[in-house]
Amino acid sequence: MKILAIFIAKIILFVTRITHLGGGTTLPGLVATKIDKNVIKKISERLKYGVVIITGTNGKTTTAKILTEILTEEGFSVLTNPSGSNLARGIASSLVGAATLSGSVEADIAVFEVDEATMSEVTTQLRPKIVLVTNLFRDQLDRYGELDKTAAIIGKSLTGFSEMTTILNADDPLVSSLSDYVEGRIIYYGLEDTEISTDSTAAMDSKDCMFCGHELEYESRYLGHLGRWKCPNCRRIRTKPHIWVSEISLEPLKSSYSLKLRREELKIEMPLPGLYNIYNALAAATIATLIGVGAPAISHALRSCEAAFGRMELIEVSGKKIMMLLVKNPTGANQALAAIFSDNKAKKIGFYLNDNFADGTDISWIWDVDFEYFDLAKTKFVASGNRAEDIALRLKYAQVDKNYLHSEKDIMIATEKLAELLDEGEIGYLLPTYTAMVEVRSHFVSKDDQLCDMGKVTKHGI
Ligand SMILES: [Zn+2]
Repeated sequence: MKILAIFIAKIILFVTRITHLGGGTTLPGLVATKIDKNVIKKISERLKYGVVIITGTNGKTTTAKILTEILTEEGFSVLTNPSGSNLARGIASSLVGAATLSGSVEADIAVFEVDEATMSEVTTQLRPKIVLVTNLFRDQLDRYGELDKTAAIIGKSLTGFSEMTTILNADDPLVSSLSDYVEGRIIYYGLEDTEISTDSTAAMDSKDCMFCGHELEYESRYLGHLGRWKCPNCRRIRTKPHIWVSEISLEPLKSSYSLKLRREELKIEMPLPGLYNIYNALAAATIATLIGVGAPAISHALRSCEAAFGRMELIEVSGKKIMMLLVKNPTGANQALAAIFSDNKAKKIGFYLNDNFADGTDISWIWDVDFEYFDLAKTKFVASGNRAEDIALRLKYAQVDKNYLHSEKDIMIATEKLAELLDEGEIGYLLPTYTAMVEVRSHFVSKDDQLCDMGKVTKHGI
């Protein structure tokens, strides 16, 4: 059955690729698991270093990408699942695509990002060596329901694996509470920097103690409900992390910090902006350390990990300037947001979402954009494109005030609206998917205007 499952799945993979029909990231896995429901388990058992799973609300994609870069630097051959296909069938497709008909795999290790809701199914099948939980923020209701229910789903998926190492974000009280479910070893990561602190109450999704319901107290709060927390009632307190980051300095297009591994302390300057990218880098470095990757490979990979920027262009609309940054996946959108919010000031942002073929017809990736990591209070948004309502809903879940959110399907009208919101001399930001960008350009960019590269763009002040 296994050979038949892999064989048929590979034919589907081949056909969807040559016909450009799409569905190649999920359909083969769906079919393979229908033919042999244990196909994931059978193939993953052949991986020399096993399976690593990254779950949680925000940061999965970037953490997986940075970890893959570190492991590749160390000489590992890494199997990953494409971003946006992090449900069980996407993972099955990745494994089937990498397997020979006999079920052996070329890769040394698999790094999979997994949706919270599918964790139980995936851990049972894959029996991962390491699971990392990034953080838990409120997500869309139709997928997961309440936040503590999501925590319980992840918690149960961690139970029963005494051989597995679980890595938890010490700064997230809800993630920390998952320790009660874990039977194996637990490693904590977090920030040890009292200088970094926010007063924003945006994305305070989990402000009460999970054990007694009393409101938590924070010595310092880093992002949303992440910080140095304690419960004054039941006396639960943040665990001091085993691997941590301190001496953080944030700049518009890069960040620098000190990374304390088990033995070494590394000074890192990383070409990725934003505190949330430091969390992602720290999470990836923690996993890499546990796998046994040395400090030189971690240091080298973090110093050279490039932001997945799309192209940028400064356009003029009704005498106002708007910086346009193409977005097509969560990693790119996160880097764009990190650059835009590097000064933590309120902004005016257009997010235009189309689902035409050239954009990718599956728009579920917007739920993997880490909006909750940024202080969106007072930032005004214009949602547009043929899926304007979906991006507006996503922003609503990121706690954007409805008075600060305009939804307008017509891209031309939406762009005029964005320009109208801008004060004199203020730069607006526009994050369009591919065909939305083409449409914006057709209205507002004359043919002889040149695209500007990153070097020129930075002069305009992001
Ligand atoms: Zn308590």
